[in-house]
Amino acid sequence: MTSCFMLKHNYFKILSLPIFNTLQPKSYHQIPWHITPTQLNSLLNAATQNKNFKQATQIHTQIIMNCYTSFPFLLNNLLNLYAKCGHINQSVIFFANIEDCYKNVITWTSLINQLSHHNMPIKALTSFNQMRDFGVYPNQFTFSSILSVCVITCNLIHGIQMHSLICKHGFDTDVYVGSALVDMYAKCSDMWSAEKVFDEMPERNLVSWNSMIVGSLENELYDVALFSFKGVLRESSINPNEVSASSALTACANMGDGLDIGKQIHGFVVKHGLMTSTYVKNSLMDMYCKCGSFEEATTLFGSNHEKDVVTWNVMMMVFLQSNNFEEALKYFVLMRSQAVLPDEASFSTALNASAGLAALYQGMPIHNLIVKSGFETNMRVACSLIPMYAKCGSLMDAYRVFQSINHPNLVCFTSMISAFQQHGCSDQVIKLYENMLHQGIRPDYSTFVCVLSACAHTGKVEEGFAYFNSVEAVHKVNLGHEHYACMVDLLGRAGRLEEAKRFIESMPMEPGPSVWGALLGACRTHGNLELGRETAERLFQIEPSNPGNYMILANIYARKGKSEEANEIRRLMGVKGLRKEHGCSWIDVKNTTFVFTANDRSHSRTQEIYALLRNLKNLVKKKGYMSKTQFATNDMEQNKEQSLWHHSEKLALAFGLLALPAGAPIRIKKNLRTCEDCHAVIKFASEIYNREIIVRDTNRFHHFSGGFCSCRDYW
Ligand code: ZN
Ligand code: ZN
Repeated sequence: MTSCFMLKHNYFKILSLPIFNTLQPKSYHQIPWHITPTQLNSLLNAATQNKNFKQATQIHTQIIMNCYTSFPFLLNNLLNLYAKCGHINQSVIFFANIEDCYKNVITWTSLINQLSHHNMPIKALTSFNQMRDFGVYPNQFTFSSILSVCVITCNLIHGIQMHSLICKHGFDTDVYVGSALVDMYAKCSDMWSAEKVFDEMPERNLVSWNSMIVGSLENELYDVALFSFKGVLRESSINPNEVSASSALTACANMGDGLDIGKQIHGFVVKHGLMTSTYVKNSLMDMYCKCGSFEEATTLFGSNHEKDVVTWNVMMMVFLQSNNFEEALKYFVLMRSQAVLPDEASFSTALNASAGLAALYQGMPIHNLIVKSGFETNMRVACSLIPMYAKCGSLMDAYRVFQSINHPNLVCFTSMISAFQQHGCSDQVIKLYENMLHQGIRPDYSTFVCVLSACAHTGKVEEGFAYFNSVEAVHKVNLGHEHYACMVDLLGRAGRLEEAKRFIESMPMEPGPSVWGALLGACRTHGNLELGRETAERLFQIEPSNPGNYMILANIYARKGKSEEANEIRRLMGVKGLRKEHGCSWIDVKNTTFVFTANDRSHSRTQEIYALLRNLKNLVKKKGYMSKTQFATNDMEQNKEQSLWHHSEKLALAFGLLALPAGAPIRIKKNLRTCEDCHAVIKFASEIYNREIIVRDTNRFHHFSGGFCSCRDYW
């Protein structure tokens, strides 16, 4: 051992300064001329470990000067060294200069392998053909390398040609080549062929099984992935590793009903000592999270001592999916405090949590951090910034982010289109959609929901139908309930209720609650009691526990002056145990969120708030405001008007006017649809106080300014 080390040490001593120090060109003549091929090879290995390009060129010189070009192992190693140093072109030039007679199958395979690693599939395929032209026969390693090249080109034809060549050379029974074939077919989305090759393999190892499991997973064939995992469990000679277990868990996570199998795999993982792997633990947490078992996921998080960025991301996802946005953001902060660097998924989740809270003061610092961390140009992060700004009520910032994206993809376009739609900017929705088509990007399901809804909001019936007809015929996107609901809404808003009803009857699928709900909404808008009652009856059957439908019907009755019937509906709700959700409004002032409920008197500035509302009432009355008492839930006629003035959004508005600096926009969030009385008052308030007021309710955003609302009183 010692002598070996000494030898190596000496080589360096002999060569070190003269060769490796180009600052001393004069001493070049000191290079020992009689260095042996074995000595050079040791130097090559050392240089490969350090990825030292300068050393590579010097060793290259030595090989030529010593006439060692006939030693294949030196050539192969130098070829690899150049590639490892990131100088693939140097490898190619060097290879071209090697005399043909010294190029053997190993040299050719090295070149193909390096070209494949450097994402140069066409060059790799050309080299493969040249090799065969020179009469060099490929071996199992050449085929394995060339199959990964076929994966890069994503061209199944290349793969199939290679497969037949493999059979011709008799390598189809080789376990190494067979596994690469399974992998190639799976990655080219031909799972049928992948399974066929796999089934016909005379011998399989762990790599073959994992190719099958991972391949099925990537092709979203979760059942097949689990079937293969069970298959590998039956093989007595093979122990599944963390890749097998982790992929099987991911399959369970995505199946929808994979919890039971997931728990069994959890047992397997514990039994086989795979719990030491953070990778496996992360997959377990992800499985529990996606299957809705948040508690198990949280317990695992606590027991996972080596938390990497994925561990934190899954935990944030747990909170995001359970609508616990504050907690998700808390974990984002905690992660950073533990010096774990956020990745694109962490940023995206944190932005989604901020969007869920509609809290601009939470989202903006994250944007700053994104800029500082250099993730600004990351497509996924940018696509999460758009809805964050849009849902926090800042459409301008959302659009600014969109404009800064170099080549926006479908997700970016749809995020922006959806942002415009939520903010009632229907014209921009259509404009951006046309722009997207112009750039050759194909729309998807949700793009059309936005486009059709924009047509509905602007009363563009004919355009709406033209888009609707293009969904399947031109863009090959399947129509769904939401598209039909938009069309019913479109006809309903235009007052064409009978036509809307006939449209529903002509649907090729059973109309769902969203479709009937759109018709019921139209009946309320146009005061059509008869059709409204009929539609509500249907809705009571398909979603018996939704209080909203009862409220709308009661509302239609009340408007028609039929208060007895309206009360009867409310009584029915009581009998069924349905309660209208309590109205709640939020407003952010100085990085704190204040919540108001109706008749709320808990705030420290309650006296001022109610005084301001009394003053506002006098001001709006002078402007022609008439209270819309049908929206009051109070039964006593004389108290109705009073109770309207204590709605949560009016209290939040008053507090905003008191607490926010003059001129600052007031942003209010509401957990229900905003009532028409509050809508009317806020319109007046925006004019009286010359303020921009943005209200986000469950349906959309209302931008009030100068006495008008962006929704054009239609929501
Ligand atoms: Zn109200
Ligand atoms: Zn509005």
